[in-house]
Amino acid sequence: MSGLLGAAEIREIAARIGVNPTKKLGQNFVVDANTCRRIVKSADVVESDVALEIGPGLGSLTLALLEIAKEVVVVEIDERLAAELPQTVERHDFDLNRLTVVTQDAMTVDSLPLAPTVLVANLPYNISVPVLLRFMEKFPTLRSGVVMVQSEVADRLVATPGSKNYGSPSVKATWWADMSPAGTVGRSIFWPVPNVDSSLVRFVRHEAAGDEALRLKTFDVIDAAFAQRRKMLRGALSELCGGSAAASEIITAAGVDPTTRGEALLLPDFIRIASQLSL
Ligand code: SAM
Repeated sequence: MSGLLGAAEIREIAARIGVNPTKKLGQNFVVDANTCRRIVKSADVVESDVALEIGPGLGSLTLALLEIAKEVVVVEIDERLAAELPQTVERHDFDLNRLTVVTQDAMTVDSLPLAPTVLVANLPYNISVPVLLRFMEKFPTLRSGVVMVQSEVADRLVATPGSKNYGSPSVKATWWADMSPAGTVGRSIFWPVPNVDSSLVRFVRHEAAGDEALRLKTFDVIDAAFAQRRKMLRGALSELCGGSAAASEIITAAGVDPTTRGEALLLPDFIRIASQLSL
């Protein structure tokens, strides 16, 4: 059988292997082949790619990736889904040697059997931000990717200073990559139909702004600034800096106004404050 998965086949596989989609694992499966092809296209997947998919589920997106990428590596926590995937791939006449299934919680993955070059995933909604940040951090070979997330989360990932959606995920993601919106996806293409809207976010990696020690320090500053986002920076960072006066001094030395708020700063501002902290 060639072609991608359709709605009827998805339900048939789920019923056969006894999968009742759960909210806990964010199991909303894409039942529309055109949407899968559109996502893969928007990720600019090419023939030489090793595509990484987090949460392949019943395989809708996996098959669309196999239509183009040289190799596809998937990380799936649900053992029944992970065990069924190779059979679905074979039934659809794709070469099983091009698929690597890792049955594991993606939040614990530190290494993979193959170095991935592009990430394409309909992410489990409850862990979408931490899992995306984790994979950008752990897998520097990922040059770009497109992920589907809850629209609210997408707004946060691509937000810029001054917007109400701008927060710690928006800044942290820019440590590794340029983030941009890549379109919306209607609810009706999922089974079961979710009660939230979904959007696509694209990332394109750029050179990291510093080493790991500087990143960790910068992320501490970002966390502190947004933990109390209505506070002026000198207040929000006072615990981290050893008091409000010390915070003012450090922030000023970094060339930032200590009475401003974290939501007005870009990553380079946070990095300069973190660099002052390490002196
Ligand atoms: N890619 C499929 C699709 O688009 O139809 C399924 C996407 S569904 C939104 C999320 C998938 O992630 C499910 O298959 C779920 O079992 C899996 N998942 C949930 N939590 C996970 C985790 N911590 N690590 C790996 N996979 C996870």
